[in-house]
Amino acid sequence: MASQERPAFDDIFMELAQNLARRSHCIKAQVGAVLTKDTRIISIGYNGPPSGTHNCDEEFPETGCPRDSKGSCSLALHAEQNAILYAVKNGANLEGTTLYVTLSPCIACARVIYTMKIKRVIFLDSYAAYKGIGIDEGVEFLRKFGVQVERHHSAVIAQ
Ligand SMILES: [Zn+2]
Ligand SMILES: [Zn+2]
Repeated sequence: MASQERPAFDDIFMELAQNLARRSHCIKAQVGAVLTKDTRIISIGYNGPPSGTHNCDEEFPETGCPRDSKGSCSLALHAEQNAILYAVKNGANLEGTTLYVTLSPCIACARVIYTMKIKRVIFLDSYAAYKGIGIDEGVEFLRKFGVQVERHHSAVIAQ
């Protein structure tokens, strides 16, 4: 088999993150995340309210998610938070891991990512562009403190 027919791990994990995003109950944004170490998956997540609360699309089909003071969904944990929290709850050490996420991390998630010693973040779409704000402050924060952040470009994923 020719080498170009073998998908790169970056493509495989980002494609999985995109599929996970489709499971999100949030109305406005659907985001997926995959946490890996040495090409193995250690956790996954997508944005949504903590289990035991309620799902935005079922509770608020007309009005959309109730907003917090910054205009974001007031209920949802972000995809990165869900992936990280699951891993931590199960005792995983996140030092040196790579996080794939379909939307670049917000500043709050960036602080958590840095604290957990995740070494590399690959994202697809820009949070700043989605929010209509000037800079990707989460990406800037991570780069400033030595986390590798790259935007994913792939011929495999046509979006
Ligand atoms: Zn929501
Ligand atoms: Zn976030």
